[in-house]
Amino acid sequence: MNIDTKCVQGGYRPGNGEPRQVPIYQSTTWKYSTSEEMGKLFDLEASGYFYTRLQNPTNDLAASKLCEMEGGYAAMLTSSGQAANFYAVFNICECGDHFIASSSIYGGTYNLFGVTMKKMGIECTFVDQDLPLEELQKFVKPNTKCIFGETITNPTCTVLDFEKFSKLAHDNGIPLIVDNTFATPVNCRPIEFGVDIVTHSTTKYIDGHASSVGGAIIDSGNFDWMAHADKFPGLTTPDESYHGLTYATAFGKAAYITKATAQLMRDFGSIQAPQNAYYVQIGLESLHVRMERHCKNALKVAEFLESNDKVAWVNYPDLKTNKYFDLKNKYLPKGSCGVMCFGIKGGRDQSIKFMDSLNLISIVTHVADAKTCLLHPASHTHRQLTDEQLAEAGIPSDLIRLSVGLEDADDIIADIQQALDKI
Ligand SMILES: *Cc1c(COP(=O)(O)O)cnc(C)c1O
Repeated sequence: MNIDTKCVQGGYRPGNGEPRQVPIYQSTTWKYSTSEEMGKLFDLEASGYFYTRLQNPTNDLAASKLCEMEGGYAAMLTSSGQAANFYAVFNICECGDHFIASSSIYGGTYNLFGVTMKKMGIECTFVDQDLPLEELQKFVKPNTKCIFGETITNPTCTVLDFEKFSKLAHDNGIPLIVDNTFATPVNCRPIEFGVDIVTHSTTKYIDGHASSVGGAIIDSGNFDWMAHADKFPGLTTPDESYHGLTYATAFGKAAYITKATAQLMRDFGSIQAPQNAYYVQIGLESLHVRMERHCKNALKVAEFLESNDKVAWVNYPDLKTNKYFDLKNKYLPKGSCGVMCFGIKGGRDQSIKFMDSLNLISIVTHVADAKTCLLHPASHTHRQLTDEQLAEAGIPSDLIRLSVGLEDADDIIADIQQALDKI
Protein backbone atom coordinates (compact mmCIF):
# COMPACT_ATOMS: atom_id res chain seq x y z
CA MET A 1 0.00 0.00 0.00
CA ASN A 2 1.09 3.57 -0.67
CA ILE A 3 1.32 5.98 2.24
CA ASP A 4 -2.07 7.63 1.48
CA THR A 5 -3.78 4.25 1.64
CA LYS A 6 -1.95 3.35 4.85
CA CYS A 7 -3.29 6.59 6.40
CA VAL A 8 -6.84 5.47 5.69
CA GLN A 9 -6.66 1.67 5.92
CA GLY A 10 -3.53 0.87 7.94
CA GLY A 11 -3.54 -0.77 11.36
CA TYR A 12 -7.07 -1.83 12.21
CA ARG A 13 -8.64 -4.47 9.98
CA PRO A 14 -12.02 -5.46 11.43
CA GLY A 15 -13.37 -8.95 10.93
CA ASN A 16 -16.89 -9.92 9.97
CA GLY A 17 -19.51 -8.12 12.09
CA GLU A 18 -16.91 -6.06 13.96
CA PRO A 19 -17.06 -2.25 14.33
CA ARG A 20 -15.82 -0.33 11.28
CA GLN A 21 -14.10 2.33 13.36
CA VAL A 22 -11.61 1.55 16.14
CA PRO A 23 -13.61 1.22 19.37
CA ILE A 24 -12.60 3.18 22.47
CA TYR A 25 -11.77 0.54 25.07
CA GLN A 26 -12.65 2.63 28.08
CA SER A 27 -11.64 -0.03 30.58
CA THR A 28 -8.88 -0.10 33.16
CA THR A 29 -8.62 -3.86 33.28
CA TRP A 30 -9.30 -7.23 31.56
CA LYS A 31 -10.93 -10.33 32.93
CA TYR A 32 -9.38 -13.85 32.85
CA SER A 33 -10.90 -17.18 33.78
CA THR A 34 -7.90 -18.80 35.39
CA SER A 35 -5.14 -17.62 37.60
CA GLU A 36 -2.64 -19.40 35.34
CA GLU A 37 -3.67 -17.36 32.28
CA MET A 38 -3.27 -14.16 34.25
CA GLY A 39 0.09 -15.29 35.63
CA LYS A 40 1.47 -15.92 32.12
CA LEU A 41 0.67 -12.34 31.17
CA PHE A 42 2.66 -11.05 34.13
CA ASP A 43 5.61 -13.24 33.16
CA LEU A 44 5.42 -11.90 29.57
CA GLU A 45 4.97 -15.52 28.46
CA ALA A 46 1.63 -14.83 26.80
CA SER A 47 0.46 -11.63 25.16
CA GLY A 48 -2.79 -10.02 26.22
CA TYR A 49 -4.18 -7.02 27.99
CA PHE A 50 -4.47 -6.76 31.73
CA TYR A 51 -4.18 -3.14 32.85
CA THR A 52 -4.44 0.15 30.92
CA ARG A 53 -1.41 1.69 32.67
CA LEU A 54 0.70 -0.62 30.44
CA GLN A 55 -1.37 -1.25 27.31
CA ASN A 56 -4.81 -0.62 25.86
CA PRO A 57 -6.21 -1.99 22.55
CA THR A 58 -7.35 1.44 21.28
CA ASN A 59 -3.81 2.73 21.74
CA ASP A 60 -2.28 -0.33 20.10
CA LEU A 61 -4.56 -0.11 17.05
CA ALA A 62 -3.69 3.55 16.50
CA ALA A 63 0.00 2.75 17.13
CA SER A 64 -0.06 -0.06 14.58
CA LYS A 65 -1.42 2.29 11.89
CA LEU A 66 1.37 4.74 12.67
CA CYS A 67 3.86 1.87 12.68
CA GLU A 68 2.79 0.77 9.18
CA MET A 69 3.00 4.36 7.97
CA GLU A 70 6.55 4.80 9.30
CA GLY A 71 7.64 1.40 8.02
CA GLY A 72 8.44 0.29 11.57
CA TYR A 73 8.33 -3.09 13.31
CA ALA A 74 6.64 -2.18 16.63
CA ALA A 75 5.17 0.98 18.13
CA MET A 76 3.53 2.42 21.21
CA LEU A 77 1.64 5.57 22.14
CA THR A 78 2.60 7.74 25.09
CA SER A 79 0.76 10.47 26.99
CA SER A 80 2.72 13.27 25.28
CA GLY A 81 5.60 13.96 22.92
CA GLN A 82 7.73 14.75 25.95
CA ALA A 83 7.02 11.28 27.37
CA ALA A 84 7.85 9.69 24.00
CA ASN A 85 11.25 11.37 23.78
CA PHE A 86 12.03 10.63 27.41
CA TYR A 87 11.13 6.94 27.04
CA ALA A 88 12.94 6.66 23.71
CA VAL A 89 16.24 7.69 25.29
CA PHE A 90 15.76 6.35 28.82
CA ASN A 91 14.93 2.91 27.44
CA ILE A 92 18.61 2.54 26.46
CA CYS A 93 20.46 5.07 28.65
CA GLU A 94 21.00 4.80 32.38
CA CYS A 95 22.88 6.67 35.07
CA GLY A 96 26.48 7.18 33.90
CA ASP A 97 25.63 7.06 30.19
CA HIS A 98 26.01 9.79 27.61
CA PHE A 99 24.17 10.68 24.40
CA ILE A 100 24.32 13.30 21.67
CA ALA A 101 21.51 15.56 20.48
CA SER A 102 21.23 18.33 17.92
CA SER A 103 21.29 21.73 19.62
CA SER A 104 18.41 22.87 17.38
CA ILE A 105 15.78 20.51 18.82
CA TYR A 106 12.50 21.64 20.38
CA GLY A 107 13.00 23.66 23.61
CA GLY A 108 11.01 21.21 25.74
CA THR A 109 13.19 18.31 24.63
CA TYR A 110 16.33 20.44 25.07
CA ASN A 111 15.36 21.07 28.68
CA LEU A 112 14.43 17.43 29.29
CA PHE A 113 17.82 16.26 27.99
CA GLY A 114 20.00 19.07 29.32
CA VAL A 115 18.47 19.67 32.75
CA THR A 116 16.11 16.92 33.95
CA MET A 117 17.93 13.87 32.60
CA LYS A 118 21.20 15.34 33.83
CA LYS A 119 19.73 15.03 37.34
CA MET A 120 19.31 11.31 36.62
CA GLY A 121 23.03 11.05 35.84
CA ILE A 122 22.60 10.93 32.06
CA GLU A 123 24.73 13.45 30.21
CA CYS A 124 23.73 14.98 26.86
CA THR A 125 26.11 16.84 24.53
CA PHE A 126 24.31 19.24 22.19
CA VAL A 127 25.94 19.62 18.78
CA ASP A 128 25.56 21.84 15.73
CA GLN A 129 23.83 19.43 13.35
CA ASP A 130 25.36 21.07 10.28
CA LEU A 131 28.92 20.13 11.30
CA PRO A 132 30.71 17.64 9.02
CA LEU A 133 30.86 13.98 10.04
CA GLU A 134 34.53 14.13 11.16
CA GLU A 135 33.74 16.98 13.54
CA LEU A 136 30.68 15.21 14.94
CA GLN A 137 32.69 12.04 15.54
CA LYS A 138 34.76 13.94 18.13
CA PHE A 139 31.74 14.17 20.44
CA VAL A 140 31.28 10.38 20.65
CA LYS A 141 32.60 8.82 23.88
CA PRO A 142 32.90 5.19 25.00
CA ASN A 143 29.67 5.61 27.07
CA THR A 144 27.66 7.30 24.26
CA LYS A 145 24.46 5.28 23.77
CA CYS A 146 22.44 7.07 21.10
CA ILE A 147 22.10 10.13 18.87
CA PHE A 148 18.96 12.26 18.73
CA GLY A 149 17.69 14.80 16.20
CA GLU A 150 14.51 16.19 14.61
CA THR A 151 13.62 15.75 10.92
CA ILE A 152 12.63 19.43 10.81
CA THR A 153 13.53 21.37 13.94
CA ASN A 154 10.97 23.31 15.98
CA PRO A 155 11.07 26.35 15.67
CA THR A 156 14.11 27.02 13.46
CA CYS A 157 13.05 24.70 10.57
CA THR A 158 16.43 23.16 9.83
CA VAL A 159 16.50 19.79 8.06
CA LEU A 160 18.51 16.90 9.51
CA ASP A 161 20.94 15.06 7.24
CA PHE A 162 19.81 11.49 8.02
CA GLU A 163 22.56 9.78 6.06
CA LYS A 164 25.31 11.69 7.86
CA PHE A 165 23.81 11.00 11.28
CA SER A 166 22.96 7.36 10.65
CA LYS A 167 26.54 6.79 9.51
CA LEU A 168 27.81 8.50 12.65
CA ALA A 169 25.53 6.38 14.84
CA HIS A 170 26.14 3.05 13.12
CA ASP A 171 29.92 3.53 12.81
CA ASN A 172 29.87 3.79 16.60
CA GLY A 173 27.50 0.88 17.22
CA ILE A 174 24.63 3.01 18.55
CA PRO A 175 21.11 3.79 17.29
CA LEU A 176 19.83 7.04 15.76
CA ILE A 177 16.56 8.37 17.21
CA VAL A 178 14.62 10.99 15.25
CA ASP A 179 11.60 13.08 16.26
CA ASN A 180 9.52 13.19 13.07
CA THR A 181 6.74 15.42 14.46
CA PHE A 182 6.82 18.26 11.92
CA ALA A 183 7.29 16.16 8.79
CA THR A 184 4.90 13.33 9.72
CA PRO A 185 5.27 9.94 7.96
CA VAL A 186 3.31 11.40 5.04
CA ASN A 187 6.17 13.71 4.06
CA CYS A 188 9.11 11.72 5.39
CA ARG A 189 9.80 8.23 6.67
CA PRO A 190 13.17 8.46 8.47
CA ILE A 191 13.53 4.65 8.74
CA GLU A 192 13.98 4.55 4.94
CA PHE A 193 17.12 6.66 5.45
CA GLY A 194 18.75 4.59 8.18
CA VAL A 195 17.05 5.97 11.29
CA ASP A 196 16.47 3.26 13.93
CA ILE A 197 13.79 4.74 16.18
CA VAL A 198 11.21 7.43 15.36
CA THR A 199 9.24 9.52 17.85
CA HIS A 200 6.28 11.86 17.54
CA SER A 201 4.35 14.46 19.38
CA THR A 202 0.96 13.31 18.04
CA THR A 203 -0.35 16.57 19.54
CA LYS A 204 0.67 18.36 16.33
CA TYR A 205 -0.29 17.40 12.74
CA ILE A 206 -1.34 13.85 13.61
CA ASP A 207 -4.13 15.01 15.92
CA GLY A 208 -4.30 18.03 13.65
CA HIS A 209 -7.09 19.94 15.36
CA ALA A 210 -5.48 21.12 18.61
CA SER A 211 -7.68 18.73 20.56
CA SER A 212 -5.43 16.28 22.43
CA VAL A 213 -1.89 15.89 23.71
CA GLY A 214 -0.07 12.64 22.89
CA GLY A 215 3.12 11.00 21.70
CA ALA A 216 4.41 7.89 19.96
CA ILE A 217 7.53 5.77 19.55
CA ILE A 218 8.10 3.58 16.48
CA ASP A 219 11.00 1.13 16.37
CA SER A 220 12.34 -0.07 13.02
CA GLY A 221 13.52 -3.31 14.64
CA ASN A 222 16.71 -2.86 12.59
CA PHE A 223 19.21 -2.15 15.35
CA ASP A 224 21.02 -5.29 16.47
CA TRP A 225 21.23 -4.93 20.25
CA MET A 226 23.00 -8.26 20.70
CA ALA A 227 25.79 -7.19 18.32
CA HIS A 228 26.56 -4.38 20.80
CA ALA A 229 25.48 -6.25 23.91
CA ASP A 230 27.97 -4.60 26.26
CA LYS A 231 26.55 -1.15 25.49
CA PHE A 232 22.90 -2.02 26.12
CA PRO A 233 22.72 -4.27 29.21
CA GLY A 234 19.07 -3.28 29.78
CA LEU A 235 18.15 -5.13 26.60
CA THR A 236 20.79 -7.83 26.50
CA THR A 237 21.04 -9.06 30.10
CA PRO A 238 18.29 -10.57 32.30
CA ASP A 239 15.66 -8.22 33.77
CA GLU A 240 15.27 -9.23 37.41
CA SER A 241 11.91 -7.48 37.56
CA TYR A 242 10.69 -10.00 34.96
CA HIS A 243 12.14 -13.19 36.44
CA GLY A 244 15.39 -12.98 34.55
CA LEU A 245 13.95 -12.54 31.06
CA THR A 246 16.30 -10.99 28.45
CA TYR A 247 14.41 -8.70 26.06
CA ALA A 248 16.72 -8.98 23.04
CA THR A 249 16.69 -12.79 23.03
CA ALA A 250 13.06 -13.27 24.07
CA PHE A 251 11.49 -10.68 21.74
CA GLY A 252 14.00 -10.13 18.87
CA LYS A 253 12.95 -7.16 16.76
CA ALA A 254 10.20 -6.25 19.25
CA ALA A 255 12.66 -6.08 22.19
CA TYR A 256 12.92 -2.30 22.43
CA ILE A 257 9.17 -1.57 22.41
CA THR A 258 8.46 -4.54 24.69
CA LYS A 259 10.97 -3.23 27.22
CA ALA A 260 9.57 0.31 27.01
CA THR A 261 6.07 -1.07 27.60
CA ALA A 262 6.87 -3.68 30.22
CA GLN A 263 9.33 -1.59 32.23
CA LEU A 264 8.82 2.11 31.56
CA MET A 265 5.03 2.12 31.19
CA ARG A 266 4.76 -0.16 34.20
CA ASP A 267 6.91 2.12 36.34
CA PHE A 268 6.16 5.62 34.98
CA GLY A 269 2.67 5.09 33.57
CA SER A 270 2.78 7.79 30.88
CA ILE A 271 0.09 6.03 28.86
CA GLN A 272 -2.11 7.90 26.40
CA ALA A 273 -5.80 7.94 27.35
CA PRO A 274 -7.76 5.62 24.99
CA GLN A 275 -9.99 8.59 24.11
CA ASN A 276 -6.93 10.50 22.86
CA ALA A 277 -5.67 7.43 21.01
CA TYR A 278 -9.00 7.44 19.22
CA TYR A 279 -8.34 11.03 18.10
CA VAL A 280 -4.92 9.90 16.87
CA GLN A 281 -6.63 7.17 14.84
CA ILE A 282 -9.11 9.67 13.36
CA GLY A 283 -6.38 12.25 12.70
CA LEU A 284 -4.19 9.75 10.83
CA GLU A 285 -7.04 8.91 8.44
CA SER A 286 -6.92 12.40 6.86
CA LEU A 287 -3.26 13.26 7.51
CA HIS A 288 -2.17 12.86 3.88
CA VAL A 289 -4.89 15.22 2.64
CA ARG A 290 -4.14 17.82 5.29
CA MET A 291 -0.34 17.74 4.91
CA GLU A 292 -0.59 18.39 1.18
CA ARG A 293 -2.72 21.48 1.84
CA HIS A 294 -0.53 22.67 4.76
CA CYS A 295 2.50 22.56 2.47
CA LYS A 296 0.74 24.22 -0.47
CA ASN A 297 -0.53 27.06 1.74
CA ALA A 298 2.79 27.45 3.53
CA LEU A 299 4.78 27.77 0.30
CA LYS A 300 2.42 30.51 -0.93
CA VAL A 301 2.71 32.36 2.39
CA ALA A 302 6.51 31.94 2.50
CA GLU A 303 6.86 33.32 -1.03
CA PHE A 304 4.68 36.29 -0.06
CA LEU A 305 6.77 36.98 3.07
CA GLU A 306 10.02 36.66 1.14
CA SER A 307 8.88 39.29 -1.35
CA ASN A 308 7.72 41.78 1.30
CA ASP A 309 10.19 44.55 2.15
CA LYS A 310 9.11 44.79 5.81
CA VAL A 311 10.25 41.19 6.30
CA ALA A 312 13.95 40.80 7.14
CA TRP A 313 14.26 37.06 6.50
CA VAL A 314 12.23 33.86 6.03
CA ASN A 315 13.28 30.30 6.83
CA TYR A 316 11.16 27.70 5.08
CA PRO A 317 12.96 24.66 3.60
CA ASP A 318 10.66 24.55 0.56
CA LEU A 319 11.86 27.94 -0.68
CA LYS A 320 14.42 27.61 -3.48
CA THR A 321 16.58 30.21 -1.73
CA ASN A 322 16.68 28.18 1.50
CA LYS A 323 19.92 26.72 2.85
CA TYR A 324 18.18 23.36 3.39
CA PHE A 325 16.40 23.21 0.01
CA ASP A 326 18.59 20.36 -1.30
CA LEU A 327 18.22 18.29 1.88
CA LYS A 328 14.47 18.98 1.78
CA ASN A 329 14.31 17.67 -1.80
CA LYS A 330 16.30 14.59 -0.84
CA TYR A 331 14.36 13.60 2.27
CA LEU A 332 11.03 15.45 1.93
CA PRO A 333 10.28 15.59 -1.80
CA LYS A 334 6.56 16.23 -1.23
CA GLY A 335 7.23 19.27 0.97
CA SER A 336 8.43 19.85 4.53
CA CYS A 337 5.43 20.96 6.60
CA GLY A 338 3.27 24.02 7.29
CA VAL A 339 5.63 25.62 9.80
CA MET A 340 8.14 28.36 8.97
CA CYS A 341 9.89 31.14 10.81
CA PHE A 342 10.61 34.70 9.78
CA GLY A 343 11.78 38.02 11.17
CA ILE A 344 10.34 41.50 10.77
CA LYS A 345 12.65 44.50 10.33
CA GLY A 346 12.77 46.47 13.58
CA GLY A 347 13.04 43.50 15.95
CA ARG A 348 11.00 42.89 19.10
CA ASP A 349 8.85 46.08 19.10
CA GLN A 350 7.75 45.83 15.50
CA SER A 351 7.13 42.08 15.89
CA ILE A 352 4.78 42.74 18.79
CA LYS A 353 2.93 45.47 16.87
CA PHE A 354 2.59 43.12 13.90
CA MET A 355 1.24 40.25 15.98
CA ASP A 356 -1.23 42.42 17.86
CA SER A 357 -2.65 43.67 14.55
CA LEU A 358 -3.56 40.21 13.26
CA ASN A 359 -7.24 39.25 13.05
CA LEU A 360 -7.52 35.77 11.53
CA ILE A 361 -4.19 34.40 12.74
CA SER A 362 -4.07 33.78 16.47
CA ILE A 363 -1.24 33.86 18.99
CA VAL A 364 -1.05 30.43 20.62
CA THR A 365 1.65 28.23 22.16
CA HIS A 366 0.54 25.39 19.95
CA VAL A 367 1.78 24.66 16.44
CA ALA A 368 0.87 22.46 13.48
CA ASP A 369 -2.91 22.27 13.42
CA ALA A 370 -5.77 23.30 11.16
CA LYS A 371 -5.91 26.95 12.25
CA THR A 372 -3.10 29.33 11.32
CA CYS A 373 -1.27 30.50 14.41
CA LEU A 374 1.98 32.08 15.44
CA LEU A 375 4.30 32.56 18.35
CA HIS A 376 7.16 34.95 19.11
CA PRO A 377 9.57 33.00 21.36
CA ALA A 378 11.29 36.21 22.58
CA SER A 379 7.98 37.52 23.98
CA HIS A 380 6.34 34.19 24.83
CA THR A 381 8.01 30.81 25.42
CA HIS A 382 11.54 32.22 25.93
CA ARG A 383 10.66 35.62 27.44
CA GLN A 384 12.96 35.16 30.44
CA LEU A 385 15.99 35.15 28.11
CA THR A 386 17.99 38.22 27.04
CA ASP A 387 18.70 38.81 23.35
CA GLU A 388 22.20 37.39 23.89
CA GLN A 389 20.87 34.24 25.56
CA LEU A 390 18.35 33.83 22.75
CA ALA A 391 21.14 34.08 20.18
CA GLU A 392 23.04 31.39 22.07
CA ALA A 393 19.98 29.14 21.88
CA GLY A 394 19.93 29.77 18.12
CA ILE A 395 16.70 31.75 18.32
CA PRO A 396 17.03 35.33 17.05
CA SER A 397 14.98 37.85 19.09
CA ASP A 398 12.98 38.74 15.97
CA LEU A 399 12.06 35.10 15.16
CA ILE A 400 8.32 34.56 14.65
CA ARG A 401 7.17 30.96 14.25
CA LEU A 402 4.24 30.79 11.86
CA SER A 403 2.16 27.64 11.55
CA VAL A 404 0.15 27.84 8.36
CA GLY A 405 -3.24 26.14 8.64
CA LEU A 406 -5.85 24.87 6.26
CA GLU A 407 -7.71 28.12 5.53
CA ASP A 408 -7.64 29.71 2.07
CA ALA A 409 -4.05 30.88 1.56
CA ASP A 410 -5.24 34.22 0.20
CA ASP A 411 -7.10 34.97 3.44
CA ILE A 412 -3.99 34.14 5.47
CA ILE A 413 -1.86 36.39 3.27
CA ALA A 414 -4.43 39.21 3.46
CA ASP A 415 -4.31 39.09 7.26
CA ILE A 416 -0.50 39.21 7.27
CA GLN A 417 -0.53 42.02 4.71
CA GLN A 418 -2.91 44.26 6.71
CA ALA A 419 -0.86 43.67 9.90
CA LEU A 420 2.39 44.49 8.07
CA ASP A 421 0.74 47.67 6.77
CA LYS A 422 0.26 48.82 10.37
CA ILE A 423 3.98 48.82 11.18
C1 LIG B 1 5.56 19.75 20.68
C2 LIG B 1 6.76 18.96 20.41
C3 LIG B 1 7.25 18.03 21.33
C4 LIG B 1 6.60 17.82 22.68
O1 LIG B 1 5.35 17.24 22.49
P1 LIG B 1 4.14 17.38 23.54
O2 LIG B 1 3.09 16.56 22.90
O3 LIG B 1 3.81 18.84 23.64
O4 LIG B 1 4.62 16.84 24.83
C5 LIG B 1 8.36 17.29 20.99
N1 LIG B 1 8.97 17.46 19.80
C6 LIG B 1 8.54 18.36 18.90
C7 LIG B 1 9.27 18.50 17.61
C8 LIG B 1 7.43 19.14 19.16
O5 LIG B 1 7.00 20.03 18.25
